[in-house]
Amino acid sequence: MLKLDFHPAGRHFLQIPGPSPVPDRILRAMSYPTIDHRGPEFGALGLKVLDGIKKIFKTSQPVVIYPASGTGAWEAALCNTLSPGDTVLMYETGHFATLWKKMAENLGLKPEFLGLPGIEGWRRGVQADMIEKRLREDTQHAIKAVCVVHNETSTGVTSDIAAVRRAIDAAKHPALLMVDTISGLASADYRHDEWGVDVTVSGSQKGLMLPPGISFNAVSEKAREASARATLPRAFWDWTDIIEMNKQGYWPYTPNTNLLYGLSEALDMILGEGLDNVFARHQRLAAACRAAVTAWGLEIQCADAAVYSPVLTGVMTPEGVDADAVRKLIYEHFDMSLGTGLGKVKGRMFRIGHLGDCNDLTLMAALTGCEMGLKLAGIELKGGGVAAAMDYLTSHVAKPALKAAA
Ligand code: PLP
Repeated sequence: MLKLDFHPAGRHFLQIPGPSPVPDRILRAMSYPTIDHRGPEFGALGLKVLDGIKKIFKTSQPVVIYPASGTGAWEAALCNTLSPGDTVLMYETGHFATLWKKMAENLGLKPEFLGLPGIEGWRRGVQADMIEKRLREDTQHAIKAVCVVHNETSTGVTSDIAAVRRAIDAAKHPALLMVDTISGLASADYRHDEWGVDVTVSGSQKGLMLPPGISFNAVSEKAREASARATLPRAFWDWTDIIEMNKQGYWPYTPNTNLLYGLSEALDMILGEGLDNVFARHQRLAAACRAAVTAWGLEIQCADAAVYSPVLTGVMTPEGVDADAVRKLIYEHFDMSLGTGLGKVKGRMFRIGHLGDCNDLTLMAALTGCEMGLKLAGIELKGGGVAAAMDYLTSHVAKPALKAAA
């Protein structure tokens, strides 16, 4: 039985691609006393986070914050904009795209699932040309929405959302564009307004460095117009009252006050570092991680260098090696959690998260744990991945994060 009072020496390495480690500064902010969610202090907090989060989505339009996991925000996106029996075009990038499609079915929508055959689609990004072709065929405009996952957390592939927008425009199709960037937001560049996204779905427990428990819908004007006509049943998820009350910094129900304290702190940290610096940090760490995987002689799950994820790296284990057995060894010996393979790739790969509150030494420690674990598992490695990652980081030096002591 799991002994919850057992505390091994040192800190646990939470290297799954979300929930990501929560910085002490955010944990402390979340420990402030819970206040009256109808009082003046709360209104100021509400207005601050509702304004700040828009900068992260790069939007001037409303961002709805739910006290729910990302799955809730998926449902909110669909039920606010669509009607029973509506056709939605969804693209299979991996496990999370598949789950979103299942949800659409459960809600009484008719999802069409586009994708490359077999496992190939789980190694590449969204093929915008396939979307354009399908939309051109839909001359009657039966398709009401195109739904894609920006950063597919199950594989480590970050799709080109601007290309999907261009595909919809090229086909002159009126479908809404809905994007899940639950694991991309605040780690990978994302532009809700510029890319013409109608609903962006995200969550707290990844790039925002918060615990799980709040999630988001960024909503375009066109999506709000669609919501006036949409007839899927909705109550808790309805944007209308929330957006109205948010104007004063309040919610129609009891919001997740302490997570909002955390969000306020996270916004200060991310905007203080600067979004472009945050993205560059993620890209650099991801490249160092891939240098390690390549030096080990292992294959990266993402087969297209143009869409490598800055958030996580999927590592395929050699034929016949159970990736979950390797993860178990690493957990037991080095107190590090890595992401399991999900769905079609279960047992064939593991995932190294390098998102959120992650720096050079966090990554190096994680890669050291991986390399030792791979060796313990008896996998013959081509070369030293840790050394390769160090070489990458020292030959691509980042701006110093700290000022030298006087
Ligand atoms: N979509 C993506 C891309 C995810 O990574 C996740 C969770 O990891 C989800 C959806 C589901 O979100 P949640 O587990 O917060 O409900």
